[in-house]
Amino acid sequence: LVSRENNAERSLVTVRGVPIGPGYTTVIAGPCAVETPEQTLQAAHMAADAGASLLRGGAYKPRTSPYAFQGLGEAGLKILSDVRDETGLPVVTEVVDASDVELVASYADMLQIGTRNMQNFALLQAAGEAGKPVLLKRGMNATIEEWLMAAEYIAQRGNLDIVLCERGIRTFEKATRNTLDISAVPVAQDLSHLPVIVDPSHSGGKRSLVLPLSRAALAVGADGVIVDVHPKPETALCDGPQALVESDLPELRDAAQTHAALL
Ligand code: PEP
Repeated sequence: LVSRENNAERSLVTVRGVPIGPGYTTVIAGPCAVETPEQTLQAAHMAADAGASLLRGGAYKPRTSPYAFQGLGEAGLKILSDVRDETGLPVVTEVVDASDVELVASYADMLQIGTRNMQNFALLQAAGEAGKPVLLKRGMNATIEEWLMAAEYIAQRGNLDIVLCERGIRTFEKATRNTLDISAVPVAQDLSHLPVIVDPSHSGGKRSLVLPLSRAALAVGADGVIVDVHPKPETALCDGPQALVESDLPELRDAAQTHAALL
């Protein structure tokens, strides 16, 4: 279903009126985690300043350590929905458990499946039945073929509104959190008709890498980027070191606009 063999034209996915796919350069931005209403609203304004047309933010955070902040849960979803009402930015947020899909889908405009859950098949199937577009991150240990098969689980349940997101894979390299597999973008676009975006924040893990990796992603033909921003990264409850700050935003906006003008 997701293969390009059966569907030669690349697909356009629309998230509450916002297009992702051929002909567009879509920026998704927001805090890694929803912490407070004020922080989320400020981050949403930053996202808009960065040229974003969709707001990201995690209310359910699948953290490596069980002692780390796990997200606000439904309270976080309510904050996201209030911020959408105030800013007009549709919301992309992660769901980590099949039993939460209905609840998350009742607030979100797009469901995110994170790297750790790429092969959680019950979750993929539930997301496929939720009636909302899905952002499917590549598993950090997954091949491109496994990633596309994970997308197939969602598609098989009747949902072809899937956007693939390359977010870095595990390699021997320690200088970055994960190695952004930039070649995955054209490879996945060649094999699948689904749009492909890149997360330079979670792959690089460092603020200084986010803008160069964003430009690299757009240069190889990514349909967009999803980027962390935070009004005060030094106080962030999750992944502060990779969040862009106010002064970084014009450069991201310019990179996306310059790329969009070439399409
Ligand atoms: C995220 O985008 O909030 C996230 C946790 O990303 P990943 O699943 O790629 O680590």
